[in-house]
Amino acid sequence: QGVVYHALDGRITAANPAAERILGRSLAQLLDHTSGDPQWRALREDGTPLADTDHPAMVALRTGRAVDNVVMGVQRPDGRRVWLLVSAMPVRRDGALAEVFASFEDISERLELARELRRQACTDELTGVANRRRFMERLQAEHERLLRHPHLQCALLALDIDHFKQVNDTHGHAAGDAVLVEVARAMRLATRQQDLVARWGGEEFMILLPDTGRAEATALAQRLRRQVQSARIAHGAGVLGVTVSIGVGALSSADDALEHVLRRADRALYRAKSAGRNAVAADGEPA
Ligand code: GH3
Ligand code: MG
Ligand code: MG
Repeated sequence: QGVVYHALDGRITAANPAAERILGRSLAQLLDHTSGDPQWRALREDGTPLADTDHPAMVALRTGRAVDNVVMGVQRPDGRRVWLLVSAMPVRRDGALAEVFASFEDISERLELARELRRQACTDELTGVANRRRFMERLQAEHERLLRHPHLQCALLALDIDHFKQVNDTHGHAAGDAVLVEVARAMRLATRQQDLVARWGGEEFMILLPDTGRAEATALAQRLRRQVQSARIAHGAGVLGVTVSIGVGALSSADDALEHVLRRADRALYRAKSAGRNAVAADGEPA
C-alpha cells in the first residue's frame, strides 16, 4: 500500500517506500511535486486524461471530503504506466483542514486481467470478430437510439456461407476454419469503424450497420458478396473459393422486439438462399 501526504497547496510532503516503488520515483523525486503535476500524465480508467484538479488528493484538498477508490493511471519515469486504486482522506487539526493523506495500490495486473476477460467474453475466438452476446448488446443500444431519434436508420446483414458443409467434407475441418477466418476478415474490410461484425454461430454472421438505410446496406452486401466470391482462400493443401448469401433487414422504431428485425433479416437470407445462393435479398417491409 503506497501512502503519500499532501500539504494544503498540494505538494507531497512525505511518502512511504511502497509509494516510491509503485510510482518508480525516489522520495527526493516525489517531494514538493503536487499530485496534479503534468509529469504523471494521469489517465482515467477509460483512458481519457485526468485533469490535474480532478486528482483524488486535489479533490480532497478542495472539498475537504474523503475520496474513495478512484482508478487512475500514472506514468513512471521508466515509461511504464501503472494503474492505481487511490483513496484520499482529509486530515484535520483543531477543526481545520491540515493536510491530505492519500493511499493507493497497484492494480495494473488485476485491471489488465479484467480487460482481457471482458474482451474474451465479447469475442469469437476463431475469427476475432464480436460474438453473439456483444452483437445483441450493440443491437439493443442502436434500437434504443432509434426510439429516441426515429428519423435515424440502422440496418442488419445476416450472412451465411454457401455449401459450407461441403467445404468441411471435401477439404477438412481446418480448411473450413480458414474459410471462416477469411470471410470474417472480408467483412471487417468491407465495413466501417462504427459497424459491428459478429459471428452468430457456425458459419453464420451478422453485421450491424448504424446510420445506414436499406438501399445502402444492400449495396454494401453486394460488394461484400462479390469480394468473397473472388477471394482465393489458402488452406493446408491448396486454395479454395466460397460464396455467401446475405439477407438485409432494416431496423425500425416500430420494432418492439429485437427478434422482429432479426427475423426479417433471416427471412431475407432464406430468400437469397432459395434464389440459388451467392445472392443478396432485402426485407420488403417498410422501415
Ligand atoms: P447452405 O448453403 O444451405 O448454407 O448449406 P451449408 O452446408 O452451408 O449449411 P449447413 O447448415 O448444412 O452446414 C453448416 C456446417 O458448418 C455444418 C457444421 O459442421 C459446420 N460448422 C459449424 N461450425 C464450424 C466451425 O467452427 N468450423 C468448421 N470448420 N465448421 C463448422
Ligand atoms: Mg447456416
Ligand atoms: Mg451455410
